[in-house]
Amino acid sequence: MDFHGANVLVTGASRGIGAAIARVLAKEGLKVWINYRTSVEAADRLKKEIEEAGGRAALIPFDVANEAEFVEGIATIVESDGGLAYLVNNAGITKDKLAMRMGVADFEEVLRANLTSAFIGCREALKVMGKRRFGSVVNVASIVGERGNPGQVNYSASKGGMIAMTKSFALEGAPRNVRFNVVTPGFIETDMTQQLKEEIKERYVEQIPLGRFGKPEEVAWAVAFLLSDHASYITGTTLRVNGGLYT
Ligand code: NAP
Repeated sequence: MDFHGANVLVTGASRGIGAAIARVLAKEGLKVWINYRTSVEAADRLKKEIEEAGGRAALIPFDVANEAEFVEGIATIVESDGGLAYLVNNAGITKDKLAMRMGVADFEEVLRANLTSAFIGCREALKVMGKRRFGSVVNVASIVGERGNPGQVNYSASKGGMIAMTKSFALEGAPRNVRFNVVTPGFIETDMTQQLKEEIKERYVEQIPLGRFGKPEEVAWAVAFLLSDHASYITGTTLRVNGGLYT
């Protein structure tokens, strides 16, 4: 896969989809900055794994929901490594509850962690990448942001907002040759879906045309494509990675 730049920041890369994205991008020759909030050991293991396989990685822990920390994290990469060409806004949380029982605090916490964080990342990336007239950002949203899901009004609002926001960033970034795209995974085997009850998982699988949950790597390759120069004429698009569940 062709990559023009050298450095990528992947948020929420200690586990799940983010870790798979980090592995794939390191294999493709990028230096991967692994962001996480609390999972120090998992992040450290991933860094060692990448290095043992001949790749380059660095750890950059911060809370993506904290504006000052995110801004400082990007500045650290730019100052120490001479630039940032790629960003994947992948970090995300769920806090599921039926809407009638959901407090404003539960709603806003998920919005802040999933959407406001991605806004901060996209804005800072546009400043840094825009100066160099080159860059590519991929946001990790969700099928739930496209079609909704009971118990997830907060999560669906955050991911639907992310899809719309990506289109606006794409329009602002295009004159500076900075591309913004979004992937919408369906149900993927990670800690996030591990929380689901077995009977609920079975019900979902029955509805998925490919008959199974996806693997983190299957999302990672879609992200890598959109990030890469192979997608140089693609911006503002949504790529669905959902086994045919929503087309
Ligand atoms: P996961 O296994 O729960 O991992 C979440 C990652 O995000 C962890 O690395 C976590 O770091 C990090 N994180 C969470 N809040 C953070 C914060 N405030 N600051 C920095 N890092 C933070 O989740 P996943 O299933 O891989 O999901 C990754 C992304 O894909 C999310 O945006 C999710 O909404 C989206 N997605 C997932 C699915 C699915 O089926 N799994 C489907 C559609 C979309 P720590 O370990 O340090 O907490």
